[in-house]
Amino acid sequence: GTLSPASPMVGAPAGTTAGARPNDEEEAKRIIRRPGMPTKVVLPPRPTRGAAQKDRGRLTVSSATGGEDERTRSVAAFRRRTQRLKGHVHDQKEKLLREVILPETITIQDLANRMSERSVDVIKMLMKQGQMATINDVIDADTAQLIAEELGHTVKRVAEADVEEGLFDTPDIQDDHALPRPPVVTIMGHVDHGKTSLLDAIRKTHVVTGEAGGITQHIGAYQIVTPAGLPITFIDTPGHAAFTAMRARGAQVTDIVVLVVAADDGVMPQTAEAIAHAKAAGVPMIVAINKIDKQGAKPERVRSELLQYEVQVETLGGDTIEVEVSATQGTNLDKLLEMIALQAELLDLKANPDRPAEGTVIEARLDRGRGPVATVLVQRGTLKVGDLIVAGTQWGRVRALLDATGMTLASAGPSVPVEVLGFSGSPEAGDRVGVVESESRAREITEYRDRVKREVAAARVGGMRSSLVDMMSQLKTAGRKEFPLVIK
Ligand code: GDP
Ligand code: MG
Repeated sequence: GTLSPASPMVGAPAGTTAGARPNDEEEAKRIIRRPGMPTKVVLPPRPTRGAAQKDRGRLTVSSATGGEDERTRSVAAFRRRTQRLKGHVHDQKEKLLREVILPETITIQDLANRMSERSVDVIKMLMKQGQMATINDVIDADTAQLIAEELGHTVKRVAEADVEEGLFDTPDIQDDHALPRPPVVTIMGHVDHGKTSLLDAIRKTHVVTGEAGGITQHIGAYQIVTPAGLPITFIDTPGHAAFTAMRARGAQVTDIVVLVVAADDGVMPQTAEAIAHAKAAGVPMIVAINKIDKQGAKPERVRSELLQYEVQVETLGGDTIEVEVSATQGTNLDKLLEMIALQAELLDLKANPDRPAEGTVIEARLDRGRGPVATVLVQRGTLKVGDLIVAGTQWGRVRALLDATGMTLASAGPSVPVEVLGFSGSPEAGDRVGVVESESRAREITEYRDRVKREVAAARVGGMRSSLVDMMSQLKTAGRKEFPLVIK
């Protein structure tokens, strides 16, 4: 305990001779009291022979006049110097070049350990690049790689820990197990062109409602059955941004996009945006020319305007299916559904229902009475009550599955959207859902993801060296009023 913060101060005062040291240890005992901590008794350090020499080696008036001390000093200094030089040579000889395994983020200490370098050297390198860091700071893999390579080491980057392995990468067995599945449709288009009206009109006439009947609560997705008896799943994405965000996270949920264009308004900015999104996703489009009941409706103008965006509808000799509809009058809705079914047939959509479920979170919220409620689109396999599921950083055991009308289901197969109860917390829209075999595995995966998420966030903030002002403005845009803050 010679390095306890209080000890250097209670030993022999600097510059005094060894004889002045208090010989009664009881007297020198220090009692340290800290709130909430057990009382600590600290003994003063016993100066070692080296320390005594060092004290004596200090050039004071008394030591300068004593010849013996002068001799001691030079011997000690000589010894120190040779030792330092020897040590240095020793270091260089032993330097090993290593293959350094780099996860997505790493602390400076950990990086230094893996390279067998000193953390101060790593910190110095960061300082040269204008980044102030301490050994416990987390840096991202790019920065870590630069440092490791600069020091002559080779780097092996690991994107995901083995923890995630086997959760999603089992491909569907492409044999008779793969059965046809319903298409998943997203309605997109410019604001006020009638997306919500169309979704509502289709739902009202085609959802087989439970006894709850007329109650129209907001739901993220629902399934209908066409007059011909074919099921179709509709997803109500809150906007194009959500569609793109989901895609950016690797969650492709839509098979077909229905592009709604108001016949009295024509192609507008968000129409063009929706076309771009559908094309980028490689998803086929069906054009629904809406509001044909209106006085100023000009469906022909919509058709020709679409040509500018390289969308050629069938009546103009192209291959994009178009249907003239009226959401409010209910005109041609069956024809639209028929066209969706036709397009789906061309896509030959299949999935294996006989395997553990995989899906995507469409939306999630915290319900006062029921806890976290997630709307999940099952994409492969069958989700059952009692399954252990993982989504993003959340996991849980499926307590209940509900359809869009609030009816409970025992299971949900491919393309079926369900409300899932039983998550420990709300997952995020776009999180992929997987089934795991044990609670410990569920914990392992979610804890790992949680850690990665926090570390990536920390590395990002650290890398930007954000000021309090930056932070406040970020919090403002995120709409947060409270935040944890550590004052150093
Ligand atoms: P969204 O912003 O695309 O979801 O559009 P909404 O569904 O909210 O519709 C915007 C407005 O257009 C509402 O006032 C609807 O009543 C009206 N609307 C939607 N479809 C039709 C239609 O087929 N005919 C007429 N006349 N009005 C419609
Ligand atoms: Mg709307």
